[in-house]
Amino acid sequence: MSAAVILQDVCKVYNNMPVVNHLSLEIQPGEIFGLLGPNGAGKSTTIRMLTTLTKPTSGRIAIAGFDVARDQFRVKQQIGVVLQQMSVDVDLTVWENMEFHGRMHHIPNPRRKREIDRWLEYVELSDRRDDLVKTLSGGMKRRLQIARALLHQPQILFLDEPTVGLDPQTRRRLWEIIKGLNQQGMTMLLTTHYMEEVEYLCDSTFGKSAVPNRIGIMDSGRLIALGTLQELRHKHGEGLVMKQEGDRWNYQFFPTLDEAKAYFEQQPNKAGMMVRPSNLEDIFVELTGRNLD
Ligand code: ADP
Repeated sequence: MSAAVILQDVCKVYNNMPVVNHLSLEIQPGEIFGLLGPNGAGKSTTIRMLTTLTKPTSGRIAIAGFDVARDQFRVKQQIGVVLQQMSVDVDLTVWENMEFHGRMHHIPNPRRKREIDRWLEYVELSDRRDDLVKTLSGGMKRRLQIARALLHQPQILFLDEPTVGLDPQTRRRLWEIIKGLNQQGMTMLLTTHYMEEVEYLCDSTFGKSAVPNRIGIMDSGRLIALGTLQELRHKHGEGLVMKQEGDRWNYQFFPTLDEAKAYFEQQPNKAGMMVRPSNLEDIFVELTGRNLD
């Protein structure tokens, strides 16, 4: 099976500055791919290029086998897009927003009505269908965006920071929706700077799909790490010893947690020391030398 998303040596230059710098990546059908990185890393620009909103300066992008530069129309049919900026019309009702999108995509009735019902139910907004969008909470608006992005039955869903600014409970609810879609076979690329979001959504031990979910860490326009959560932890070390020196912590990675514990036990002075399994944030700090937020 050919890849759902292909980026080959893609660059985007703004004001003579490479914002996306020779990015090559393939996402497989059924995969949920988490693109992680600090603000300014180039994640949104990458999504904007993948979704035809901006053109790459160089390189090639193919979505579901269609070239983004040559076949925009076909690409748009294959993708659903949920961007950071709220793109729903707040002066229309929930139903009218869905109806408008359905008409834009030339979905005929009765299929249009059926699909609107189906997706509003999926995101639990059926009972708000006649309410103006401006009366909805932030989480409800995001769910509406997701329902709308799914209406024309896309193969690939792009989510740019889908839970930014939402409270933890609302975020968890969205995670369940996103995970559920992936379990139904939807290919997804999501960007985030929330570590726990990728750890939860892109855990490759989860899901019925035979395709492992992967994480890419982007920094200054480049992909600096790529793999499943397990691969990234295995590569950088699954055990961690932290040592406080003055007002900063020094991190030392070990291949396994047992090895980290053994090292810890050997230390004559354990004051200011801690041993624990490594996580994605540790790996990010190790790779980039800075925190995400
Ligand atoms: P991220 O989504 O990872 O936070 P972005 O892709 O939004 O990163 O931005 C990457 C860099 O590109 C930033 O330095 C940003 O200022 C710059 N940038 C993004 N869009 C434009 C634009 N339209 N014109 C000029 N610079 C831009």
